[in-house]
Amino acid sequence: MASTHCKNGHEYTVENTYIAPQYKRGKLYTFRQCKECRKNVHNSLRVKHISNGICGRCKCRPLLEGYSSCEVCKAATDKWKKENRVRKDHYNKVRYETLKAQGLCVTCKAPTDGNVYCRTCTTNACRTRAYYRGLKSRNRWSKR
Ligand SMILES: [Zn+2]
Ligand SMILES: [Zn+2]
Ligand SMILES: [Zn+2]
Repeated sequence: MASTHCKNGHEYTVENTYIAPQYKRGKLYTFRQCKECRKNVHNSLRVKHISNGICGRCKCRPLLEGYSSCEVCKAATDKWKKENRVRKDHYNKVRYETLKAQGLCVTCKAPTDGNVYCRTCTTNACRTRAYYRGLKSRNRWSKR
């Protein structure tokens, strides 16, 4: 019988359910896991290691000063982040070009009248820009 809640009372919603693969006697099975609980277990273990001065990722090397991971793991994370950024940039570019070619807004996919952005997104972009400009000038002013 499929239960609707995990043993800690979190609901098995689509967002909160992780389908974990597992091999049993050479056959692949899947079982449900509560994402909330996975996160909690992961975080509490990590915090425990870090407070003991041990890298929360590899759980064996000492922490790099001022970081929550060791030198090796930090380098790996940095590399992953960099690769991820490149991948994301590429994805965004492809998405941009595709939507532009289809005559759709590159932000919300609404039909545009020949522009890259729809009218709503153009207005929003203006507002965001104005907001950041205001923020910047305010900072400059407060620093003086
Ligand atoms: Zn749970
Ligand atoms: Zn490490
Ligand atoms: Zn739009």
